[in-house]
Amino acid sequence: MTEPDCLFCRIAAGKLDADIVFQNDAVVAFRDINAQAPTHVLIIPRKHVATINDLDSADAPIVGALFLAAQDIAEAAGISDVGYRVVMNCNEGAGQSVFHIHLHMLGGRKLGWPPG
Ligand code: AMP
Repeated sequence: MTEPDCLFCRIAAGKLDADIVFQNDAVVAFRDINAQAPTHVLIIPRKHVATINDLDSADAPIVGALFLAAQDIAEAAGISDVGYRVVMNCNEGAGQSVFHIHLHMLGGRKLGWPPG
């Protein structure tokens, strides 16, 4: 369930370099190349799913795995208590530019609300 032309499938398969900070059977997490905060990690499922709209009920465990990975990464980065943000953009109008779902995890600085 990977797409040969998908950038994030290639990272998950080890075919493209990335600064990987966490991985398990379900997810891979790596630093965003255009970091918007001292900690800015992208957490992706190994399975190719283009957008949130393409998830189905069988994908519930991998969605959970994204959040559990965020919890581990925050702990390792020492930002669990001070706080961090996770966000997933769905489609171009919300800013999605890579069509393989990914949870942005941002922390290490004060984060404003609402986001732009
Ligand atoms: P989005 O705009 O929500 O789809 O987020 C896509 C993110 O992927 C952006 O923050 C990009 O900076 C990031 N990105 C694109 N290519 C790479 C890459 N090769 N390695 C790490 N991050 C990337």
